[in-house]
Amino acid sequence: MSLKLLEITAHQLKEKLLSREIQATFLTKKLFEWIKEIEPNIQSYISLNEDEALEKAKEIDRKIENGEKIGLLAGVPIAVKDNICTKNIHTTCASKILKNFIPPYDAYVVKRLKEEDAIIIGKTNLDEFAMGSSTENSGYKITRNPWDTERVPGGSSGGSSAAVAAGLAYMALGSDTGGSVRQPAALCGIVGLKPTYGRVSRYGLVAFGSSLDQIGTLTKDVRDAAVLLQVIAGKDSYDSTSVQIPVPDYINGIDASIQGVKIGIPQEYFTNGINTDVLDSVKNALKVYERLGAKIVDISLPHTEYAVAVYYIVANAEASSNLARYDGVKYGYRTNDVRGIIDMYSRTRSEGFGNEVKRRIMLGNYALSSGYYDAYYLKASKVRNLIKNDFDAAFEKVDCIVCPTSPVPAFKIGERANNPLEMYLSDICTIPANLAGIPGISIPCGFSKEGLPIGMQILTRHFEEKKLLQIAYAFERETDFHLKKPVLKGSIA
Ligand code: GLN
Repeated sequence: MSLKLLEITAHQLKEKLLSREIQATFLTKKLFEWIKEIEPNIQSYISLNEDEALEKAKEIDRKIENGEKIGLLAGVPIAVKDNICTKNIHTTCASKILKNFIPPYDAYVVKRLKEEDAIIIGKTNLDEFAMGSSTENSGYKITRNPWDTERVPGGSSGGSSAAVAAGLAYMALGSDTGGSVRQPAALCGIVGLKPTYGRVSRYGLVAFGSSLDQIGTLTKDVRDAAVLLQVIAGKDSYDSTSVQIPVPDYINGIDASIQGVKIGIPQEYFTNGINTDVLDSVKNALKVYERLGAKIVDISLPHTEYAVAVYYIVANAEASSNLARYDGVKYGYRTNDVRGIIDMYSRTRSEGFGNEVKRRIMLGNYALSSGYYDAYYLKASKVRNLIKNDFDAAFEKVDCIVCPTSPVPAFKIGERANNPLEMYLSDICTIPANLAGIPGISIPCGFSKEGLPIGMQILTRHFEEKKLLQIAYAFERETDFHLKKPVLKGSIA
């Protein structure tokens, strides 16, 4: 197989399968050969699902052969972040505490992938319980950026992003609580979409910050993002926060003109803290939009400076409550030789959780404790509302907002690992969308002087993913940043 076949998008791949130019079984076998060759340098997967994937591939070949009806993702190899439950396949959240956890059910999104005939390749690495921005907090391994293996892929969906960027999966699912789909997409040079809170069911996504978490897509281009969103969006009776709003057709009409679209540029996101290569790339992208007939409007989101502080109170408070369930009784790891129940709880949690998770549980419990609740959690909730109001006011004037996704391109492994505060600032541009619940996408828009990918973020109103995809696609169609691939050491070329 030529390397080219690993570089094409999922929608191009599906055409080749349908026209019988290639077979799903052949493709799946080759993909696993590629994974065995490349994966040791990238470390994007926690577990592989080879046998089941080959079974599914055979089933799809049979269906195509017999002219049977096939799903939207027929034959497309997909990776799933390891905090999304997969029936009979380990789901670890990259934590030692869930090392042996095998869910008895599929998450809603996984059920939908299967219904649409996708091939699930494996479960990808992440920062433990999705807490981090570099995938260095994994309890198992450090994932490397395919563009430069000395650098991080971003996080927490770093495994999913690196897998797609390195051709180790055609698409992937991630989760985004404060930027964990968009930021690693930016650092790996791919497309990352976080839908509106409530657009996609969280049933079977291991909870981190329940009022912020949303499952998102990692793909090679915007059209693939539309296809994958089409599959996973919609009301699910198992998640009461998923919303009963009809799912539009994201695929047809994605090429709509953006003539006259008003793009808001928030001054707060174009400041000194942002790397100059990132700023230059986003500013050049705006020129492309102007050429396409969009109107650039300066706007202000005045409470942006509080977003990171608010996020780390709200997210940690919710995490401390969500993670209380890992007590050695119900799931996963339990310590040995216990002396009483308190000893069992405390040693199980001390041994099972990593340092970042413990830090957050402590911060969250502190913020929720009776003496401090008003000063921290309540105050943060109020400021969160102000941040949401900023967006509402901005969207009175503009159709979308454009800004950088990450303040910097991929940083070196170890560079921020010992400085939690600096790490927390990695998500300064993505966190506000989670606090407000609005959708956001990161698309490739340039390269740094060192040749590292740069992402641009686009935000729209709640449930306006269709418009978001159209605006992103208009840029992608005019540029070739998304077509550039990292050079990987492999011999299947
Ligand atoms: N980096 C942020 C955090 O550490 C966001 C994580 C996420 O979106 N899952 O919490």
